[in-house]
Amino acid sequence: KFQAFMIHKDEQGFRNAIETINIEQLPVGDVLVQVDYSSVNYKDGLANSPEGRIVSSYPFIPGIDLAGTVIESNHPRFDEGDAVLCTGYELGVSHFGGYSEFARVRGDWLVPLPKGLNFKEAMSIGTAGFTAALSVDRLILNGLSPDKGPVLVTGATGGVGSVAVCILAQLGFDVVASTGKLATQSEWLHQLGATSVVSRDEVLVPAKGVLAKERWAGVVDPVGGPQLTELLKSVQYGGGVALSGLAGGSKFDNTVYPFILRGVQLLGIDSVYCPMKHRQAVWSKLAEAWKPHKLLQAGITEISLHELSSVLELILQGDAVGRTVVKLR
Ligand code: NAP
Repeated sequence: KFQAFMIHKDEQGFRNAIETINIEQLPVGDVLVQVDYSSVNYKDGLANSPEGRIVSSYPFIPGIDLAGTVIESNHPRFDEGDAVLCTGYELGVSHFGGYSEFARVRGDWLVPLPKGLNFKEAMSIGTAGFTAALSVDRLILNGLSPDKGPVLVTGATGGVGSVAVCILAQLGFDVVASTGKLATQSEWLHQLGATSVVSRDEVLVPAKGVLAKERWAGVVDPVGGPQLTELLKSVQYGGGVALSGLAGGSKFDNTVYPFILRGVQLLGIDSVYCPMKHRQAVWSKLAEAWKPHKLLQAGITEISLHELSSVLELILQGDAVGRTVVKLR
């Protein structure tokens, strides 16, 4: 018997609780993992909300990330005792997730824990950090380099944003961090490596006309929504916007002009079904040159399952800062 964070939605309403369950209650899968750490992402906040439309059936154990040790395996790539991590796929969405002392998953979803990361560090990065790395990787593939000019990171104090600030600064980029928490978190963003910090409102101010002064060589954007309309107007010729999220809304209006007059690239970023080969390559970078040292030193909160419910509410309100890991073992 072991503990898991379970959510229910039935005639008694929507609720969560830490429950004692047994291995037989876990879903079908070919690898059983003893979970050391999970983490808190925006999507986990949605999973824990009655209006979130993330979870496919109840009762359910959320948690889109986990890292731990293989206890039993019928998968050719994994043996008992292997250290692994899992993000995305169906985990924490339609398959019981990481907020559980044990998880049974498909071996095809697992990444061997790269040398250079321990369980806590891997989950400090988690889906959000992996998405930040995918965004940076894509922008570089699109031609971004430090000499091209400043890179804007939106939602900079959030999970995707803070890891992106850290990686880009480490790689020598001039990083401009945009945040709704200018008064309280500016210094912290500078500590992570941001060259300057701007208010979210400043980025949102509508420019007159269909194009504005060219400012950004690249943008990491986990916020989306109306500010994306304005951002696209000020991306430099040939620059890219790596769009991964909707913390600021799912809709934006636009004209074709940034694309047809400046060759701006809107680059969609998905971490969930990122192919395994690319997934492993990016995790290897995160364990080496892209390891977000400053965030790992100064931006990680560790909680237990008992504090999870309130932290999941906080992240949906946009009030979370940095990354939160959940210790299970
Ligand atoms: P998070 O930690 O909550 O970060 C989001 C940040 O966005 C907040 O900290 C806040 O930063 C900013 N923000 C919040 N509400 C906003 C609003 N109304 N308008 C403008 N900015 C707002 O969440 P996360 O885990 O990093 O995820 C961020 C987004 O990326 C989510 O939409 C998530 O679903 C998405 N995501 C997508 C993928 C993928 O595979 N595509 C993977 C991971 C995450 P400031 O206060 O600093 O502005």
